[in-house]
Amino acid sequence: MPHCNKQMISFFLTTRCNLRCVYCYNSKERAELEEKSLPLEIAKAGIDEFFANNKSRHIRFYGPGEPTMEFELMQQITIYARQKGGNAVTTELQTNGAFSPKVREWVLDNLNIVWVSFDGTPDIQNEQRPFPHKKPSAPTIEENIKWLYANKGERNLMVGARVTMTDLNVNHQKEMVDYFSSLSIKYIWTDPIFPEVKKRPVCEDNDREEMYHIDLEGYVKNFIEAHRYAKQKGVFYGSFLTCNFDGEAKINCRACTPVPHLTTDGYVSACDMALDGENACHMDCFIYGKWDEQNKKFIYFEDKIKALRNRNVDNLVHCKNCIAKLHCAGHCLGEVQNETGNINGQIPSICNAVRTLYKELGACETYNYLHP
Ligand code: SF4
Ligand code: SF4
Repeated sequence: MPHCNKQMISFFLTTRCNLRCVYCYNSKERAELEEKSLPLEIAKAGIDEFFANNKSRHIRFYGPGEPTMEFELMQQITIYARQKGGNAVTTELQTNGAFSPKVREWVLDNLNIVWVSFDGTPDIQNEQRPFPHKKPSAPTIEENIKWLYANKGERNLMVGARVTMTDLNVNHQKEMVDYFSSLSIKYIWTDPIFPEVKKRPVCEDNDREEMYHIDLEGYVKNFIEAHRYAKQKGVFYGSFLTCNFDGEAKINCRACTPVPHLTTDGYVSACDMALDGENACHMDCFIYGKWDEQNKKFIYFEDKIKALRNRNVDNLVHCKNCIAKLHCAGHCLGEVQNETGNINGQIPSICNAVRTLYKELGACETYNYLHP
């Protein structure tokens, strides 16, 4: 099932976070940031509208900070979604996994899919994703995952790992499979690090490109090995670059539908990478609606919706003769826009990686859990 079939409403709950990841889009600026959370009124209106216009009843909690830092809000939104959508509602959380025992008890009984951002063995996790003052985070996260699996019983709950790949973990992919598997994790998605979203696209800022360097060839080579190794162990080991390998698609993801991602400042975004409506800068093409406070309703920007829907692989000149055309569909438009400043642009290094992966692995069976 291609990635674009992941239809859902996402809530960007809060800018607050309890970790200090070294590659975070605002790790340095965080202290000076004005903290913002999504107003409940907007979340409720978003649910009403999404359920009225889309068959999906899937709701998802996401950044830009750590969603569990707004625990009460997450609970209230879930209760409201169930009031409106009943038993058909399914729930998903993208979290750093460093939450309290009180939160994990609620997670156990209320969520279906939990993706923990977890970068590998404890040495790498603690280096890349520490608490403030470089305090290690791995022990807390390990404990939470073990506890969730120990208490899961018959509940419809999957806890998987979403790994940011950097030059630090690129050569340790098989070890990662073993480590996660020892924690009972059976689904792992890896994402090569991409440059943070700032005020200008990466093509106008060379420093950022160097800062977020990854040996993509090394990633691909080791990924293929780890993917096959994981399969033998009954573990799913996927890559963001293979997220459409399990079906044919002409659009890369849900951003081309688009489906709503409600921002903390009251906008409707199409993409996980456009987190701020008011100051979206070069990512503004993803901001396709806004909450009208006076009239208590969403207003939509039809020209932007049209442009997002038009981002189809048949319209991308560089994809015309690509062997992976229908299993890549032009790659993630968020990344392409952030790097090239053009939603229809190309990242040649990514194309080489996708084609190598496609030649080696080819199309595959349907994924049980689509990429977050
Ligand atoms: S980050 Fe990429 S894959 Fe995810 S929603 Fe945005 S465009 Fe789609
Ligand atoms: S690999 Fe590159 S050329 Fe091929 S479909 Fe993806 S973006 Fe287009």
